Amino acid sequence: MNLVAVSRKRSELMSENFLFDDDKGHIRSRLFGTRVVIYDSLIYASMYRRMFEIFKSGAIMILYETGKEAGRSYGKSLKDKIGEPQQMAGTLGRLGAASGWGKIDFSPLSLVTWTLQEKVILKIRNNFHAEAVGQTGESSCHFIRGLFIGVFEAMFGGEFVCNESKCQSKGDSYCEFQLKRPSTGS
Ligand SMILES: [Zn+2]
Repeated sequence: MNLVAVSRKRSELMSENFLFDDDKGHIRSRLFGTRVVIYDSLIYASMYRRMFEIFKSGAIMILYETGKEAGRSYGKSLKDKIGEPQQMAGTLGRLGAASGWGKIDFSPLSLVTWTLQEKVILKIRNNFHAEAVGQTGESSCHFIRGLFIGVFEAMFGGEFVCNESKCQSKGDSYCEFQLKRPSTGS
């Protein structure tokens, strides 16, 4: 009984957010019209592992910087389409869950006309990235850390910094990211 309910909910979540064209072999984002592809954790983990074999600690910078750039593009598209910060954050959470990245929760955004006043805490439960990478003994979601910075910089302007204070890859039950302006206290 529960499995049927979960399955229907998942199916609705997918069709609300994505268009499927089996003849063309396409999946498209309803919001952006962009192509979407699904790949599993075997492929993802292999790419991640090989990047670290080749670039060693430089892989952290590559993942962080590519995440940041991807986040800026995504955040700009989100701002162009939606434009209201709380709604954008909600959309980001829904898209994250529909895409299988995990369950993303935001602390409430404290806003005064687009100025973010306080630190934002983002939590990802059942984080695809961390589960694909496995246990590393340290915070390992460098791409996602960069992604959040990029999204928030595109949404609010200026610079942000982000610390991953908890990570499933070091044994925590969820990943937690603390996002703030560089000049504000901890
Ligand atoms: Zn993590």
